Amino acid sequence: MTLTPEERAGTLLTGSKLALGITPHFFNLIDINDPHCPIRRQVVPRLEESSYAPDEMADPCGEDGNMPVPGLVHRYPDRVLFLVTDRCASYCRYCTRSRVVSGVGEQELETDFEEAFRYLEQHEEIRDVLFSGGDPLLLSDTKLEQILSRVRAIPHIQFVRIGSRVPIFLPQRITPELCAMLKKYHPLWISVHTNHPKELTTEVRDALGRLADAGIPLGNQAVLLKGVNNDAKVLTELFQKLLMCRVRPYYLYQCDLIRGSAHLRTSIQEGLDLMNQIRGYTTGYAVPQYVVDGPGGGGKIPLNPNYIVAKTEDRFVLRNYKGDIYEYPEQSPEPAILQHGRWKD
Ligand SMILES: *Cc1c(COP(=O)(O)O)cnc(C)c1O
Repeated sequence: MTLTPEERAGTLLTGSKLALGITPHFFNLIDINDPHCPIRRQVVPRLEESSYAPDEMADPCGEDGNMPVPGLVHRYPDRVLFLVTDRCASYCRYCTRSRVVSGVGEQELETDFEEAFRYLEQHEEIRDVLFSGGDPLLLSDTKLEQILSRVRAIPHIQFVRIGSRVPIFLPQRITPELCAMLKKYHPLWISVHTNHPKELTTEVRDALGRLADAGIPLGNQAVLLKGVNNDAKVLTELFQKLLMCRVRPYYLYQCDLIRGSAHLRTSIQEGLDLMNQIRGYTTGYAVPQYVVDGPGGGGKIPLNPNYIVAKTEDRFVLRNYKGDIYEYPEQSPEPAILQHGRWKD
């Protein structure tokens, strides 16, 4: 593959930032004759990565400030994010955790497993554990099973999830043996990460099918990326194709303000306009929730095109996906949700 000058300069920077890593499977999806290939843009570094825009951050979701134990992010009341490895099968250039991921950055992920398990055991309000990293499915079956069984032994933990792009980057890792091990720890859900319909190859579809056949409900977390998927037709095709792979589109993320990502970010307005062109035009199951992770540590904030045109004393004036207007009578007294909340001030 011949690199463009921007890519050639970008690859020289990866020694001190986020490593360059692409699996053969994913690399083979790159159209080497197209410098704008949406697969290529996700994983081949570019010179723009070295320019940091004013609002960008090393830790855009403020995770380091929400770690009661190294490697465990406890932001929401009932669930935690458990970072179990710093390695991925390939490295996404817009990685929100690039400060600790891939082993070449300024920080190291220092997960303290024993302390993390103890924290989970002691905090009975935690009923949901989300394993991420890095990519948990890069761990061996044995290591992964040690972690899963340990967490499953905690009575108050009901829901277990794994966030992984391995089914997309390395579908051959989804072996029958892995699936047989995972299904012992139900209810177990997996969130995968695909951004473009080209990623859903027959190998990926079969890997996802093996996970689904093991009874694992699958969701997708896509990131809205300029020059990759900021197009209503591309997103609609991605979301419909995911349903055919038995994956429910879960979130569409506004790209985090990670350092060096300006060339991959769209405006929020563009994201809202795209959602407006999708909702109503296709299967509701194919429509994810568009969210922005509140910069600095606010957690996920849902963003929706505005369907409430006006609210009078006794009516909501609403529009449907085509822009037609409908009115719905409002009960009184008004529901509490409209009486409080900082947005009203
Ligand atoms: C995304 C995230 C979760 C999970 O959020 P859901 O909306 O339940 O999918 C939990 N903890 C942290 C820190 C997160 O960033």
